[in-house]
Amino acid sequence: MPNKDHGRSEKKFETKLIHFGGEVDRATGASSVPIYQASTFHHYDIFNPPKHDYSRSGNPTREALEEYIAVLEGGTQGFAFSSGMSAISTTFMLLSAGDHIIVTEDVYGGTYRLLTTIMSRMNIETTFVDMTKPEQVKAALKPNTRAVYMETPSNPTLKITDIADISAWAHEHGLLSIVDNTFMTPYYQRPIELGADIVLHSATKFLSGHSDVLAGLAVAGNDEVGRQLKYLQNGLGTVLGAQESWLLMRGMKTLGARMAHSEISARKLADWLDERSDIDAVYYPGLPDHPGREVQEKQSTGYGAVVSFDVGSEDRAKRLLSEVKLPLVAVSLGAVESILSYPAMMSHASMPKEVRAERGITGGLLRFSVGLEDIGDLIADLDQALKRS
Ligand SMILES: *Cc1c(COP(=O)(O)O)cnc(C)c1O
Repeated sequence: MPNKDHGRSEKKFETKLIHFGGEVDRATGASSVPIYQASTFHHYDIFNPPKHDYSRSGNPTREALEEYIAVLEGGTQGFAFSSGMSAISTTFMLLSAGDHIIVTEDVYGGTYRLLTTIMSRMNIETTFVDMTKPEQVKAALKPNTRAVYMETPSNPTLKITDIADISAWAHEHGLLSIVDNTFMTPYYQRPIELGADIVLHSATKFLSGHSDVLAGLAVAGNDEVGRQLKYLQNGLGTVLGAQESWLLMRGMKTLGARMAHSEISARKLADWLDERSDIDAVYYPGLPDHPGREVQEKQSTGYGAVVSFDVGSEDRAKRLLSEVKLPLVAVSLGAVESILSYPAMMSHASMPKEVRAERGITGGLLRFSVGLEDIGDLIADLDQALKRS
């Protein structure tokens, strides 16, 4: 069969989103990859085993997805996991007892919990630093440091880490550079092109985009890391099922259209909030006074679709959450519907109040993940809710 994806690496990102190589079933020409709902595969010739022999080790539907994310991130190999945390925890298994890792202090809450309550029991030590300050990262280096873990923009105050700068420093010291790229997606930011060794995703968010799948992805920037991740994925059995793999690919095809639409709306929302006198702070990397804007523009082609803002007090935030009519009031982000989250009581509830306060996660902070609704309607809804609260 002719190779339909010939020369795909030179195509523009939007084209790769649709023509990634596995978009057509090679056996039948069907317009989408079949859901290979099978756990095992018949050996027609016992001396010549089939390409796939067991779905934990390899499933054709999951493989199409893994090839897809590798193409989008510009990596050598992709891996699909049962959740974002599953991708992250499997990647941490690259470390051994006695190793040390440097992690961004405002890392995703689940990653923080994994490092401080589970990996710590395996004698894997973590130092949390403000990654926007390279001197703090450098000062955290120890003889047993093995990796640096970044998340940019961070959650929920959208601080920006210079991926190229930190990755270059990591490589000088023989460390792995790992980036959680959930907020930007490869549509706006491709960490491997900036020097990272591993990119991770909660594909539950923008990549799937419809609040209906839980999934995680990892991409290796080189063959050696790819070989190790493959071994861990199979050995730990943290794989994504065939149904979810298919559903995720279905969502990813519209990633470009969704991100572009939501970002235009997010910029308008950030500007509108920024002009109001009754909002204490607005966090969005596209705002002119955002301290990370320059780095964001250097390493990404956009600012994303998440805007955080502080309405001044816990009471006002709670009233606003009961007055809004359009957004889903929920944890999670990155969907067709707008999602309004309350970090202090949702994603960051387990963090001590003083630590939250230090990081700007006050009782008045809200996080708005902008969906595909009309932005005029979203702003009108927020306006009425702010007036009533
Ligand atoms: C949601 C999220 C995760 C965890 O992903 P799950 O799919 O919920 O397991 C990790 N990192 C970031 C930045 C997230 O937003």
